[in-house]
Amino acid sequence: MAIYSDETASFIWRNGEIIPWEQATIHVNAVGHASVAGVFEGIKAYWNDAVRQLYVFRLREHMERFLRSIRIVRYGFHYSLEELQQAVLELLRANDYRRDVYIRPYVFQKGIVRELLQAEPGRPTELVIDSWPFDSCRDMSRALHVCVSSWTRISDSCLPPRLKCFSNYHNGRLAAMEAAVSGYDWPVLLDDRGKLTEGPGACLLLVRDGKVIAPPVTSGILESITRDTVFTLLQEALHVPLQEREVDRTELYVADEVFFVGTGWEIMPVASVDRLPVGEGKPGPIARAIAEAYRRVVTGRDGRHPEWRTPCLKQAPASGGPSGESLA
Ligand code: PMP
Repeated sequence: MAIYSDETASFIWRNGEIIPWEQATIHVNAVGHASVAGVFEGIKAYWNDAVRQLYVFRLREHMERFLRSIRIVRYGFHYSLEELQQAVLELLRANDYRRDVYIRPYVFQKGIVRELLQAEPGRPTELVIDSWPFDSCRDMSRALHVCVSSWTRISDSCLPPRLKCFSNYHNGRLAAMEAAVSGYDWPVLLDDRGKLTEGPGACLLLVRDGKVIAPPVTSGILESITRDTVFTLLQEALHVPLQEREVDRTELYVADEVFFVGTGWEIMPVASVDRLPVGEGKPGPIARAIAEAYRRVVTGRDGRHPEWRTPCLKQAPASGGPSGESLA
């Protein structure tokens, strides 16, 4: 399921410099090392045409998570939280974006393929920040047909899902491949005890009896920033109760609504699980309402939580955005 456009940026940020995208090359023998040893983030910025501003959504929290991932893998790393945030803004300005954009910082230890298992803490690292245009306007009539994968989700004792590194994504790729050849849009994965974890690239939430249920952060999931945003919006904007607890596979079969949440997918409803329709087999009322609330807050059309939006362009108000409905 492709969600990215195939356009590229004009400029990329590499080790402190903005350089033309085409010049950001690496030796072919280093590709394996760069990907296996790569730790990354996925961030989005949203264009608000009414106020001519590009807002980076929860930049600080994404970079905090990036630093936590880097700590787990024990890389030597000298960029501060503030420097990382500034680098993203500098890159977005260099590319002169006036549309929604996806931002991908990644760090890896340098090495060639024969050094794959050499993992000294002091080994030099490269830091790269790429970006690309992203069409965010999700068609909310669309919902996915998912299956429960026969693959088990990686766990904290082998490849920790809390760590956002490229290697972890092989687990999701195996599941996505299996789902595709079996005629499904996307998989969800269970842990080794049969409890629900997440899908490749997004967390999963359920609705049962008017309550939103979420597997906890100890259930083999990434500590998702969208999940956290949705929790806040559910309570503040929709007044829907929330329960974080372990979820059984069969709860997916009897849920009123199921939807994915993540930076890339935003809010993505599920139509069926293992061919059993979820609710009426189309996006449910809570998923639709949360998708609308999310869209309004990320673009700054809803002025609440200005601390979540970092304005990128200098001429616009520095407060994090307008407030009130009139700017929609
Ligand atoms: N789980 C996985 C495995 C992911 O790759 C993502 C996307 N980053 C998420 C969950 C959602 O996390 P976030 O809301 O922070 O994008």
